[in-house]
Amino acid sequence: MSKALVVYSGGQDSTTCLFWAKNHFKEIQAIAFDYGQRHLVELSAAKQIAGQASVPLSIFKINLLSEVSHNSLTDNTMEVESDQPDYRPPNTLVEGRNMLFLTYAAIFAKANGIKNLVTGVGQADYSGYPDCRNEFILSLNQTLNLSMDYKYQIHTPLMWLDKSEIWQMANDLGVFDIIKDQTITCYHGIAGDGCGKCPSCKLRNRGLQKYLKSK
Ligand code: ZN
Repeated sequence: MSKALVVYSGGQDSTTCLFWAKNHFKEIQAIAFDYGQRHLVELSAAKQIAGQASVPLSIFKINLLSEVSHNSLTDNTMEVESDQPDYRPPNTLVEGRNMLFLTYAAIFAKANGIKNLVTGVGQADYSGYPDCRNEFILSLNQTLNLSMDYKYQIHTPLMWLDKSEIWQMANDLGVFDIIKDQTITCYHGIAGDGCGKCPSCKLRNRGLQKYLKSK
């Protein structure tokens, strides 16, 4: 396994995957998407970290994702829900996002002679997002192989890890500080520890506290 493409967003999970991939493949590239997210600062973080890691990053614009459906990550008029209702995913779910990202990533990968795709999705802390589940990844892998007659392998190093274990992985990879200080996971686009109040910050900080206690 020599070359891999990392689906990158500048957040905690995909940044951990970026450095995981650096350790597992000879040559890596990253791909990120401007899909109409509220906070383009995420892409600035992605550029900065990929630059530091000497990983070539290609950014593409996907104009339609924020137009065909509405969610609080792309629609400024919607409030980010602070608590997740138990009968449906939270309004931060961008329907179809991982499928689209991985599909575009696969097309780009084939054009560049790359078969390995790396994504930071996981189902331990998946927040009710259906496209973070292993079943979906296995299914999409098969579909991509069939659709492009190419032997892709989608790698999901975080699939079964909770947030505290992801912090542990960051530490094992020697990038704990980069991830703690420079990544953006917050739904309000605040780097590092974030706003502390949105569901994404709560999940990240709870994981961090659990990890620090286990040290
Ligand atoms: Zn936040």
